Amino acid sequence: MKFENNLAFAQQLDKADRLNTYRSKFFFPQHNGKDVVYFTGNSLGLQPKTTQSYIQQELNDWSAFGVEGHFLAKYPWLSYHEFLTEKMAKIVGALPEETVMMNQLTVNLHLLMVSFYRPTQQRYKILCEAKAFPSDQYALQSQVKFHGHDIADALIEVSPREGEYHIREEDILSAIEKNKDSLALIMIGGVNYFTGQVFDMKTITEAGHKAGAIVGFDLAHGAGNIKLELHNWNVDFAAWCSYKYLNSGPGSVAGAFVHQKHLSNTNLPLFAGWWGHDKKTRFLMDSTFVPMPTAERWQLSNAPVFSMAACRASLDIFDEVGMDALFEKSRHLTAYMEFIVAEINKEKNNCLQIITPAQNRGCQISIVANGYGKALYNKLIENGVIPDWREPNVIRCAAVPLYNSFEDIYRFGEILKSLL
Ligand SMILES: *Cc1c(COP(=O)(O)O)cnc(C)c1O
Repeated sequence: MKFENNLAFAQQLDKADRLNTYRSKFFFPQHNGKDVVYFTGNSLGLQPKTTQSYIQQELNDWSAFGVEGHFLAKYPWLSYHEFLTEKMAKIVGALPEETVMMNQLTVNLHLLMVSFYRPTQQRYKILCEAKAFPSDQYALQSQVKFHGHDIADALIEVSPREGEYHIREEDILSAIEKNKDSLALIMIGGVNYFTGQVFDMKTITEAGHKAGAIVGFDLAHGAGNIKLELHNWNVDFAAWCSYKYLNSGPGSVAGAFVHQKHLSNTNLPLFAGWWGHDKKTRFLMDSTFVPMPTAERWQLSNAPVFSMAACRASLDIFDEVGMDALFEKSRHLTAYMEFIVAEINKEKNNCLQIITPAQNRGCQISIVANGYGKALYNKLIENGVIPDWREPNVIRCAAVPLYNSFEDIYRFGEILKSLL
């Protein structure tokens, strides 16, 4: 499609967009009486207008039933997490039995590594991407140390080449090959939080398995953003949060995936809690742990119902829309954003550089504004655009297909241009 850089054209695209009505199902922060241009759904997704009633339902049932709400609530708390499973599984391309909503992201990464990072004298290395999200780096480092290995020796970080922003897939594959005798685990952010680069998880998983390693992904920036087929790709485990693209509210409950092939292995070591015990006999309160036959085995505690209620409100929307429709709009929005940036560059001396690879991206575009520092980001905020800033010099913009519009992108372009 041939794009145009004007308001009427952007509005015409919005009219033709069959997801356009979903925008009105979300609350937008206001700036001078108008919706802000919200490009930070990759950090904290907007609040669906339905969320309050989902949480209110649980408050009502708590006041009406007290402890009996575990059974009598409209959505009984005892099994509340089960209401999320199927819809979540669809979003990440997993079987319901492979999927569970529990805890928070970094907690889940640790719990899964307890089971899947089992280093030996020979095989103890972990391969990850350089400059992974700090929490992931700390998690990996502490796991390595916990097992008595040396971080400098055991952690292999694959970096972009000199002068490049994203990591070449061939460099990941050759690092796997090179370390194939000592590699225990590959743990990569499936979508890099900084550049927005999407990794070829299928190929990396295959290569990892061929090398004899376990392969897991952090999908904080993947879940709800890109097409995922965790089951078919044969990924061993994964974890993600629900407050970014999944719009479940600050610090909301996270997700975890364990591939079906591991579920029959009841000898897998794990850190256990009562919610991972077989639900049929959980309340016999016996001292012997009998594992759930599903990913629910990794649960420790009973369900945090309020954050799960927020998550349920959001997943109901995803389920109604369907991921394929979202991906289609997402591609269209990012293509328009790319076009608008190119238009600005024509007038502004090519000062904007998109560092997100065009062939491997979700809805996030990371932009380096050469010659401009954080002041540019501050001015965007002052002018009603909310992107985010990542040191040392990147402005991240996520045009989220559920609630962002082509007009948002046009307005962003006009404001950005006026500040350069
Ligand atoms: C957002 C994000 C986190 C945050 O971890 P929490 O445990 O949810 O605080 C971790 N890893 C990555 C890759 C992220 O993008």
